[in-house]
Amino acid sequence: MKRLKTLPIHPGDSVVVLTGAGISAESGIPTFREKGGLWEKYDAYKLATPEGFKTDPLRVWQFYSERREAIQKCEPNAAHQALVSLESYMAKKGEFLLVTQNVDALHQRAGSKNILEIHGNIFRTRCSNPDCEGWYQPFEDTDLHMDEVPKCKICGAPLRPDVVWFGEPIDPMLEFRVQQALRSCDYFIAIGTSGTVYPAAGYVQTAGDAGARTVLINAEAPHNIAFFKEFYQGPATKILPALLGLD
Ligand SMILES: [Zn+2]
Repeated sequence: MKRLKTLPIHPGDSVVVLTGAGISAESGIPTFREKGGLWEKYDAYKLATPEGFKTDPLRVWQFYSERREAIQKCEPNAAHQALVSLESYMAKKGEFLLVTQNVDALHQRAGSKNILEIHGNIFRTRCSNPDCEGWYQPFEDTDLHMDEVPKCKICGAPLRPDVVWFGEPIDPMLEFRVQQALRSCDYFIAIGTSGTVYPAAGYVQTAGDAGARTVLINAEAPHNIAFFKEFYQGPATKILPALLGLD
């Protein structure tokens, strides 16, 4: 591979990174929405909507339990590790925020600290009843619920995976923090996401308007490069360490 010119990131800079399914796919995790992803095999309406959960919560839990099991067999890769190195390089002086659309917690396992999981985390569970005081108190849960729907200890309603389903909004508090970081960042780096659909498309625009250098790393060339100033095509496990001068 041709040696890439590294990004001149200084420890005092402000960096926002957005990661999507592509970075997890390089760890062997099947994607959801992409071509060849899980939603081509499974019915997303039945498994990833509040309505589907209401109709058959056990089927939903079986699906997410299988996902938990599959993800636990995978390991963070060189791109996850590169983001940990970048965060520790910038520690104390600069600002580093990792926004991820992935629910697999591989960034945490790699050792990243300042993470916003805008689509939730598959290893967390919470009450499904919005009237319950436990409704927005997700807790860590790595159990597999294959035979029985777990119930809330406070109100008895079915518990659900703490992931954002179709038709559900991103937590406005998280979105606010993302927007705040985007408006003052020097670099916006999107990895493993098409870059042309929401939220990446909106994020790059905000960061670009704020004068940030905007970089996209993705396996496939987007139909429309949108507002990114730079695009690197190929595996993030190769490109990211090279761009950060870690290879
Ligand atoms: Zn409850």
